[in-house]
This record gives sequence, C-alpha cells and structure tokens, in this order.
Amino acid sequence: MSVPEQYSLNLPGIERETLDVDVLLIGAGAANLACAIHLQRQLAARGITDKSILVLEKAGEIGDHTLSGAVMNPRGISELFPDWRERGCPIESDVRWDAVEILYSKDGSKRLKGPLVPPQFQNHGNVIVSMNQVVRWLKEQAEAVGVQVYPGFAAAEILFEQKDGVERVAGVVTRDSGIDKHGQQKHSFQPGMNVRAAVTVFGEGTRGHLAKHLIRRHGLDAGRNPQMYGTGIKEIWEIPAERGAEWLGGVLHTAGHPLSLNGYGGSWIYGLKDNRLSLGFVIGLDHPDAKLDPHALFVQWKQHPAIARILEGGKVLAYGAKTVPEGGYWCMPRLYGESYCLVGDTAGFLNASTLKGVHLAIKSGLLAAEAIAEALHFGDTGAARLKRYEELFSASWAKDELYGVRNFRQSFEGGLLGGMLDVPFQQLTGGRGLVERRKNHKDHETMHPVHLSRLEKPAFDDKGSMDKLTDVYHSGTTHEEDQPAHLLVKDPSICIERCTREFGNPCQHFCPAAVYEWREGGTAKGPVINFSNCVHCKTCDIADPYENIEWVVPEGGGGPKYVNL
Ligand code: SF4
Repeated sequence: MSVPEQYSLNLPGIERETLDVDVLLIGAGAANLACAIHLQRQLAARGITDKSILVLEKAGEIGDHTLSGAVMNPRGISELFPDWRERGCPIESDVRWDAVEILYSKDGSKRLKGPLVPPQFQNHGNVIVSMNQVVRWLKEQAEAVGVQVYPGFAAAEILFEQKDGVERVAGVVTRDSGIDKHGQQKHSFQPGMNVRAAVTVFGEGTRGHLAKHLIRRHGLDAGRNPQMYGTGIKEIWEIPAERGAEWLGGVLHTAGHPLSLNGYGGSWIYGLKDNRLSLGFVIGLDHPDAKLDPHALFVQWKQHPAIARILEGGKVLAYGAKTVPEGGYWCMPRLYGESYCLVGDTAGFLNASTLKGVHLAIKSGLLAAEAIAEALHFGDTGAARLKRYEELFSASWAKDELYGVRNFRQSFEGGLLGGMLDVPFQQLTGGRGLVERRKNHKDHETMHPVHLSRLEKPAFDDKGSMDKLTDVYHSGTTHEEDQPAHLLVKDPSICIERCTREFGNPCQHFCPAAVYEWREGGTAKGPVINFSNCVHCKTCDIADPYENIEWVVPEGGGGPKYVNL
C-alpha cells in the first residue's frame, strides 16, 4: 500500500491506525448520502447484510459546507424516496410563480412573466429548498438504515495499492490535526487514520481536491473537455413581512447588469419561509477580465434599483460562496475506475441551462449505488465491474437531460453573443446547435492581461452593499489559526515576478472571502494569505492564471458554518 506524492499537509512517517470498511464515501452531500441509502437497500435486496458503509465529511456538522440556490427538481429525490414529502424532507415552498427580469442598463429593467418566461426558467412543479437543511435530513435517513456518518473527518490523501499489476484506490488517509503553523506537532497532535475500503466514492462537491488528483493521475478526463466553472455568491435576507408573504414561493431570475457582453452569468431571488429571500449571483470563470471579482459583481447587482427595491428595509442573515461545475456533458470525467466512483458535482452532474443539479446529483448517487451493490455481490470491485455505473448513466434520463444541452455552456465561452446565436439552434436540434461538439478551454486560460481590465469596484456601505469581510462574518467561517495555511502557493516567485506584471495578481480580486492580500514594500513584497477566512469555494484553485494555487484540506471541522444556505 502506498501514499503517492500529492499535496497534503499530513506529516510523513507517522504511524496511523487503520479502519476497514466495505464502502467509503468522501463528502456528505446529496449525491453521496443518496448513494449510501440506496446502496444499503440494494444490498438488503440481495440478502447481503454484513457490509459496512461509512461517509466522511470535512465539515464540523453535516450541512455546514453545503450551499446551493436552490430550486430542486423533485425527480431525483422522488426516486430515492417516493414518499419524500411524507417523510418530512424539508422544503421552503413549492414554486408559486416565476419571472425573469432583464436589467438592460444600470437603472433600467423589464420584468417578463407568464408565457414570456423562457422555458428553461419555468419552474412549475419544482420546490425551493435550503440544501444544508436537506442534507441534514438525508443524513438522518442514512443513519436510520445503518449508514455511519462521521463529520469533522477531512480526507487528506488517497491510498493507492497495486493489485494484479493494476493500481487501485484502497481508501483515504484522514487529515492529521494538531500541527502548528510551522509544520510541527503540537501537544494536541492526533494522527490521521488510514480508512481502507473495497470501494471509495468521491462526492466531495465541486472541484474535489482528491478527485482532482485522481482525474489527473488516472487520466479520467482523457478525450473530455476541461471542466468549466462559475463562482456563485449567495446571501439570505430577511425582508419586511408585508412583502415577505408575496415572495414566498416566488422565483425570479435576472440577466444583464452588471455584466456586459463578455461575461456569462446571472442571478436569482427565491422566496423562502419567514419573510426570507435567497439571493445570489453566478459568474463564469471564463470571464476575460483579470480583475474579475464575483463578490463585487454581486454587490453591483444588488445596487440596481430593481433589486434594491426588493431588498429595501431588509437585512442580511447569512453569506456563502461556492463554485459550480457548469460545463455539462462534454466536461464529465470517466465516472469509475479501479475500486472507485465519482458522483455529484465532483463528476459534473449539473445542467447549466436550467441552473439545476440537485436532482442529477441524487440520480448519480442512485446509479453508482446499483453498480457498487452488483460489484460487492460478485466480490469484484474492479473497473470492469464498476463500469456498470457509466452504462446505467448512459441509459438514464440524467444522460438524456445532459446530452440534450451538451453544447449549452460551451457556446457562451468568449461572451454572450455566441450563445445567444447558437442556443436557438441547439433547441431545434436536440442540443447539437451549429456543431456536434463544442470545445472549450480551461477557465484560467481565458484571462486577458491586466492592462485590458475594465471592471471596477462598487461603493460599499453597511446597509446592503457589504464588503467581503463583513460578508464573511455572516458565513460563520472559522479555522484553527495555528495550523499551516491550506492554500499552497507552489512558486511565490511567479506571483512577484510575472503575475504582478501580466495579470495584476488576480487572487486579490476573485477570492470572495478576502483571503489574498497583496503586500508591497521591499523584501516583504508578496501575497499574504488570510486562510482562516476561506469559505472553501475553490475559486482560487481554478482561476489562478498559472495554476499556482493549490487548495488542500485544512484540519477537519474548519471552514464555513452555513445555516439555511
Ligand atoms: Fe475560495 Fe480560495 Fe478564497 Fe478559499 S481562498 S474562499 S477557496 S477563493
């Protein structure tokens, strides 16, 4: 058994205890929890009752790191639990009305309602949810069928071993805790654990830090497009009661301001219970501007009169950010390998045209569970058996849905015009459009030199236009301060000697949590990393123009504490 060289803050040469399980799931999101529940049922149906299933989650509590819009298409949860409503799956509201607001200038807008709402924004039959409430509920459902769920355990490294001349995934090593900022053991040092499994399922969420290495190491993206990401910024607001009632169950999407034609993105406002609103803004990370600042765009959007009117008299309750895998079908990696599967956001199960992924994430978990149950039944968890997962996907409605919009996001690379021209053809040709398969770049390759930047910062205030640090306070983010920074700058000389000149150190702009500051002045010149602010969105790992930043997992339990996000 070997631990390969990879980015991890675990100490080398430490003796570690080993825990053996049959199936190990990394990340307690919707995809993995659905997978664990369905797997238990599938095994029981085959008369197999002696298999152990363990879910590890880096957050201190299940749901603390979960963030989504979210309007949920109930198709996935209905397959997991046909009686999901009766079982008490928490929902904020059924969707009662839809609208789209075109913000055609800095202060002009036009609202489209009823039949004028484009089909992909019509949400009749869908439900508004808080995904961190939903995953907390899914955790209870999983535990009720015998799945073990351990929060506070961060998976730091993948265990690989050779079997019959083939490298297989044998489990993970969890993160050591009690290492000080200089990399030395503290009195509280607790070594991580080897957790070995017959099958490991990576459902780490978007840009999974272990899946990223696995995809590269095993070439799971060979022949696929690189994944395209957006960064989503979200707040929960409380608004005056007289307006809250009319918003309950409302779904508003906006397009336009503050984006110009060279950026792909948009926003949402969803009406929740108790006079609260979920609001957010997603911007594609293929935006060419080196000063792209998703949080600043979000603030500028809130300052548009049409949005400011909605928020007037309200106050912010919560804040968060995450990246979203937008690329769709062509960007999905191979879903399986020797003793492992990839599910959910980690595998790119998201339909960017409808802004929905929860139903696809759950479906991916269900399909993986069926393949894993079959593999365990035959006592063979090799790639040839787990290939069944990809076959099941190919025969599923999830594949049909994703294939039907396969060129959607790619057609917007380089600006809105390409997509606006091609999407009508895509709708007429079952997703094909003008070419069968559109290519795309890695997001960071699309950044233009800083002297071409046109983006500006908004004016902040303490009413609705909070700066990043004020917003981070509302995310509940904390990390143990005396530990090594979990944002690794591979070569700081690139920051100083090239990035300053070429791109103006974009990390100080694109991070939505003010983690990166640029320090000028003699020998002290360079990036300052306030890692304790990090909300684990992964934007820096994706958007750095030299791929010079590596996000690695901090001690378990650190990070945001999202409530109702
Ligand atoms: Fe996101 Fe990176 Fe900033 Fe953390 S440091 S909040 S992962 S951009």
